[in-house]
Amino acid sequence: MQCPNGCPSPMEERKEEKIFHRNGKPIVISDLIMYVCPDCGQESMPLSSARIVEDILNGKVKPSGKFTAELYEVSLADLWDKQNRFGLSPILEG
Ligand SMILES: [Zn+2]
Repeated sequence: MQCPNGCPSPMEERKEEKIFHRNGKPIVISDLIMYVCPDCGQESMPLSSARIVEDILNGKVKPSGKFTAELYEVSLADLWDKQNRFGLSPILEG
């Protein structure tokens, strides 16, 4: 799978932890297969993962545990997340 941004490297398959919202409440799906571009960090969700997410959001899958975490509603949180994962600085990120 090629990066939609036209990067030369093929996207890598990775298992990630993702947060989604169901009925206004956050839920976490771990070991979700995502394609990630090693060049620019672009993420793409394969159809198989999208189906799993859809089933979970529709309540067809039982949770395997509870997730609790501190919540930070800061506009830069997304940039920090990217920085931690990809070693990019928010300045370079633009
Ligand atoms: Zn890319």
